Amino acid sequence: MKEIKCNICGSNDYKVVHRGLKDDGSINLDTKKVYASSSNIVGNDRIVKCNVCELKYVTPQLEAKDIVDAYSEGSDEKFVSQNKWRMITFKRCLKEVEKATRGQKGKILDIGTAGGAFLKVAKDEGWDVAGIEPNKWLCNWCEENYGIKIQQGILEKTKYKSKSFDVITLWDVLEHVPDPSATLKKCRELLKDDGILVVNYPDIGSMPSKLMRSKWIFLLSVHLWYFTPKTLKKILSKTGFQPILFKKHWQTLSLGYLVYRMEEYSKVLAKISGFFVRLFRLGNLSIPYWLGQTLVVAKKKTN
Ligand SMILES: [Zn+2]
Repeated sequence: MKEIKCNICGSNDYKVVHRGLKDDGSINLDTKKVYASSSNIVGNDRIVKCNVCELKYVTPQLEAKDIVDAYSEGSDEKFVSQNKWRMITFKRCLKEVEKATRGQKGKILDIGTAGGAFLKVAKDEGWDVAGIEPNKWLCNWCEENYGIKIQQGILEKTKYKSKSFDVITLWDVLEHVPDPSATLKKCRELLKDDGILVVNYPDIGSMPSKLMRSKWIFLLSVHLWYFTPKTLKKILSKTGFQPILFKKHWQTLSLGYLVYRMEEYSKVLAKISGFFVRLFRLGNLSIPYWLGQTLVVAKKKTN
């Protein structure tokens, strides 16, 4: 574990806003379980708020290499079982993307592709698609099920040519990566000058977060950075982007999966609801939910 500086301003002047399990901020968890795509390990980590720029983040964190290694291994059947529902969300998202590109379809790069649900939707709509994903099993799953070849690894090590994409997407990714500023800078390099960046993230300043406090469902050990519209604008600006849209991002999952995710918060409630869900065979019911997820569309800053 190492002490982490603010990823936006570089300061290490902070105050603790969420103590975590232990006073020194140490955690002791199975990293492979924490860094699975379907991870629902509730955050036991110490969250701090930068006194200079207000970014909230976890410190100390594991070494970046250990985090990437943990993401790379393991299989995640539970996660891909939800792709059908994710595609409902992504069809809506793609419409938003196409609004920003004024209906033009070109080359799209999805970072942290997971099981490829977004790329499948985009490909079916006529986009030329590419994806990067550290998890080997998910890459294979995507190729076998959708016929889309995903580059296994991390963005920083890719060999794509600069200015070669019309759109770059980061779905539920920015809060996971060890260095969000570096990730965004690399996106800027790979995007064409009139390209569009699309990011979604859980907003820790949102009403659901304020109401649920330490029970907010996005306080997960797998999340390292907690943005608000203010800090997200700052990191975009620092890395050469200008946001053109912030909006609520409704996601859809099956009721069965939501009950599974509920287990970490209340085993009793999950058991009772699980019983009724099975009894009435409601596991496949589509449930749209919004608990602070925010969609951001940005373009390159011109200066
Ligand atoms: Zn800061």
